[in-house]
Amino acid sequence: LSDKLSSALRNVRGVGKLSEDNMADALKEVRTALLSADVHFKVARQFVDKVREQVVGQEVLKGVTPGQQIIKIISDELEQLLGSGETQLNPKKPLKVLMVGLHGSGKTTSTAKLGRLLKKKGYASPHVVACDIYRPAAIDQLEILAQANELGFTCDRTSKDVPAIGRAGLAAAKAAGSELIIFDTAGRLQIDEDLIKEVQRLKDVVVPDEIILVADGALGQEAVNVAKAFHEALGLTGLILTKLDGDARGGAALSIKSITGVPIKFVGVGEKTEDFETFHPDRLASRILGMGDVVSLVEKAQENIDEKEAERMAEKLRKADFNLEDFLAQMQQVKKMGSMQSIMGMLPGMNNVQLDDGHEKQMGRTEAIIQSMTLQERRKPMILNGSRRMRIANGAGVKVVEVNQLLKQFQQMQKMMKMMKGSKGRKMMKKMQG
Ligand code: GDP
Ligand code: MG
Repeated sequence: LSDKLSSALRNVRGVGKLSEDNMADALKEVRTALLSADVHFKVARQFVDKVREQVVGQEVLKGVTPGQQIIKIISDELEQLLGSGETQLNPKKPLKVLMVGLHGSGKTTSTAKLGRLLKKKGYASPHVVACDIYRPAAIDQLEILAQANELGFTCDRTSKDVPAIGRAGLAAAKAAGSELIIFDTAGRLQIDEDLIKEVQRLKDVVVPDEIILVADGALGQEAVNVAKAFHEALGLTGLILTKLDGDARGGAALSIKSITGVPIKFVGVGEKTEDFETFHPDRLASRILGMGDVVSLVEKAQENIDEKEAERMAEKLRKADFNLEDFLAQMQQVKKMGSMQSIMGMLPGMNNVQLDDGHEKQMGRTEAIIQSMTLQERRKPMILNGSRRMRIANGAGVKVVEVNQLLKQFQQMQKMMKMMKGSKGRKMMKKMQG
């Protein structure tokens, strides 16, 4: 399917203007891609109409193929729809969060995951409250998770009065000085009146700052009705999309977001408590489109790396006078190509792989270290003595060992370059530059 989409997009070429005609096949494939990612059919139609409106009549830009231009418009539009920059939680402290959703969607798991994540982000003594009274196992499940993640816990194994349990939870959390209280509730297989009424009563008592719908990423066409019902009854403030580690392509997210306007705030990417992330619209956009396409990866690279800059670098490498300033510039070039995640998303079969933030964080730290150096230091790293290194580490907010590591890496690189300076090396460079 994604192959079909990319070949349809590649076929739009050699035209001065994008028109309804030369776009028709490509847009049809986009619609098919959306539908097979479980996007609601109405949402898919609206989306394609919007893209068509934007695309038709546009001049084909120099230096990019029409297909690339369309992909860019489509993914921008998708990202915008999925809601960039809206994923923040209400900043209030203490923050009260009510978790709602169907049975098995991942509410209890996500309650613990959210507690753990926000605890790491500095919320004092997070507290979770077991308001699913229908299955004793549900209370045990939350208790075990709370213990494992050192979260405060309130339950009542004999009471059937959910609002009273909520009130008790609030009191316990307050006594413990909690800055975060999460209420886990019961679900049903389908939306039903009694369930909604019970959650409404709980809501009236605890007055939550966030009401979050937990939805299974594989929910499909049904997602829209579920989200609508919960939103109308409770006024949702956010969405957690779970089980994105599976086959689900996340179309449910697009449907829910575009029909209710409720922003997606977090995603669940596994069964373990740490398998939980802040939502990134760009990642989900490329996943929904499933654009596994090496061609566009290559094209993207060409588009972003400034030719002259690349030549300058090659020259410097040849002369082996590459310094830390150049190193920083190179790293910024790589960053321009996009995040590692979006690059992975373009490799066939890799668009479902979720990268941890490690790579990008590491790159950010290296950047911070170099930026904390003076120009002179960047050009002549050998002047970096102990006190300079200490000052740089403080400036970059890292440990001195990290500065030392970076310098060691850099020295090794320089050594390699010196080796390549000889005639053998020149041949190698030629080869590399093709
Ligand atoms: P609840 O009924 O809404 O409280 O759902 P639970 O939290 O009990 O989760 C139902 C099942 O889904 C459990 O087996 C969880 O381990 C699993 N689950 C929840 N979130 C995720 C996720 O992001 N990925 C995976 N693979 N499984 C999940
Ligand atoms: Mg549960």
